[in-house]
Amino acid sequence: MAPLNCPACGSANIRRSQRRNVFEKALRSLRLRPWRCLDCQARFFRFRRRSPNHLPQDKRPHAPRGWERLSTSTKVQIVGYAIGAVLILALLRWLISGGLGGG
Ligand SMILES: [Zn+2]
Repeated sequence: MAPLNCPACGSANIRRSQRRNVFEKALRSLRLRPWRCLDCQARFFRFRRRSPNHLPQDKRPHAPRGWERLSTSTKVQIVGYAIGAVLILALLRWLISGGLGGG
């Protein structure tokens, strides 16, 4: 397996970096991790190397079997509903916070 390298200088002398803010913590859900090059101090993101998705179906730890069985169109629908729910919640917050101008 090829080692990780710094995208700026190509050095393999890198180490994991601390997540600094909410944004970088959110990237965790995308399996992105911050790294830092110890040679040039460049900071960059890489996907986690050992992704369960690379394993065969029956060897995935805690595989979301229900979700995996769904067709792509069904997944798109579910994601659409999720986005709609977020928009509705945002609209409710807007209404509650006086979005109608107080009538
Ligand atoms: Zn570097």
